Amino acid sequence: MFSLCGLTINYAPPGLTLYPNPPNPQNPHTPHTPSLAGHMGQPQWSEFFPDCGGSGQSPINVDAAQSKYEPRLATIRPLGYSQHGNEPFTLSNNGHTVTMPLPSWMGVAGLPWQFSAVQLHLHWGNGASVTTGSEHTINGRSTAAELHIVHYNSELYENVSMAMTKRDGLAVLGILMEVGEETNQAYANIINYLNRIRHAGQRVSIPAFDIQTLLPSDLHSYYRYNGSLTTPPCYQSVLWTVFSETVKLSMPQLMKLDTLLYASEEGASQPSVLQDNYRATQPINQRVVLASFQRGQYRRTIAARHTLPHHSHIRAKTYPHHSGYTTTPLYHTIATTLPHHSNHSTTP
Ligand SMILES: [Zn+2]
Repeated sequence: MFSLCGLTINYAPPGLTLYPNPPNPQNPHTPHTPSLAGHMGQPQWSEFFPDCGGSGQSPINVDAAQSKYEPRLATIRPLGYSQHGNEPFTLSNNGHTVTMPLPSWMGVAGLPWQFSAVQLHLHWGNGASVTTGSEHTINGRSTAAELHIVHYNSELYENVSMAMTKRDGLAVLGILMEVGEETNQAYANIINYLNRIRHAGQRVSIPAFDIQTLLPSDLHSYYRYNGSLTTPPCYQSVLWTVFSETVKLSMPQLMKLDTLLYASEEGASQPSVLQDNYRATQPINQRVVLASFQRGQYRRTIAARHTLPHHSHIRAKTYPHHSGYTTTPLYHTIATTLPHHSNHSTTP
């Protein structure tokens, strides 16, 4: 098992542990590691995981005024999200987040390659405020929580283990969650089962449901940038899509998310609550954040986008020739497999 973006995935070869979970004081080869939950210890992550100190880390604050409108960014198209079948899903508390593996036949199109689903998980706050909990912020503003749906580049890599260390390996959809008046029935499919997995290591089977209902209705309007996993090992392998439209959960739903779970196992002598499992925003450095929409034109015609081929390498390769970017355009960056610590500011 290994951990990805704060949670453990079961698809990796056994024995591959990319960060200690938890640290083992009996094993002299296991370094004393910082806390991975909450904000405690985040500045120390890079001592143990050098990528966490890289120049292309996530999350970031998206400054809308500094983002660059890019009309060639395609509408996000979930593939198979609604064809969940009859197999139940498995929801788990891994001590860092609540996570749910997704079938690999689910995927997402509208990206430069074909990406297959891996899992989803959540980040949240501590119940004291509905204005903190998300990882990404927009114009300096965080929201109550954030959903991440993780995919790997199944066009270039055999599995997520191989993909997660590559520059073009992962694609994550980020959905910001806010408080609203009504119960969100889509998220109820997850929230209603949290009381069954209150302690780390617990899991529960839940009825399969339409994953697409977790997304905002507007899949045209989003921010796009190259970033990283938001937990150690912080690999800079993520093509991020952060939707402009938020989803709304009721206050009771958000309170359950904020307060029900423990980071400790059942019966622990010193139980610790699982809260504030979001990372602070990271320097944007030389990166460009693209916007698929123009400010003030939140919903607009997408006819032009439909003329573009889907996940086209041709588009990726020709893109820089038509751009006036002073920093590496995103498609060029991900179209070329760059070394891990490549300089984003290199002009093509
Ligand atoms: Zn995450």
